[in-house]
Amino acid sequence: MKAALFLEPGAPLSLEAVELLPLRANDVRVRITATSLCHTDVAIRSGEQTYGTPIVMGHEACGVVEAVGAAVQGIQVDDRVISSTAPSCGHCENCTGGRPHVCVLSGSVRSVPRARRTNGDIATGLFGLCPIHGWR
Ligand SMILES: [Zn+2]
Ligand SMILES: [Zn+2]
Repeated sequence: MKAALFLEPGAPLSLEAVELLPLRANDVRVRITATSLCHTDVAIRSGEQTYGTPIVMGHEACGVVEAVGAAVQGIQVDDRVISSTAPSCGHCENCTGGRPHVCVLSGSVRSVPRARRTNGDIATGLFGLCPIHGWR
């Protein structure tokens, strides 16, 4: 598959082939149907915000779940989902207390390795899922 990768501030995005990493126990694989570049992407490209490199851009996406890891609960194949730079784990005190927007694990959820470039570098995606229950 191809991805738009951020490699360094001020440089054009690199459209290149990447290999998805194997699905892990808590991962969900989504077929992206639409995505965009938002102000956060602009800030990353300019160097105003830093999250390391390389990054697969387009963290505000929607799509359909194609596969779920063995430990995933509450999401199943064919669910429609949206992604976010502020994903929630669903299990921490904030998530179970009705405050998923301040999930203590959000940063680690969004920085999971997602893809391998042809040169072997591993890219993150800066996103996680926000399931939309009942939207089928
Ligand atoms: Zn955004
Ligand atoms: Zn949480």
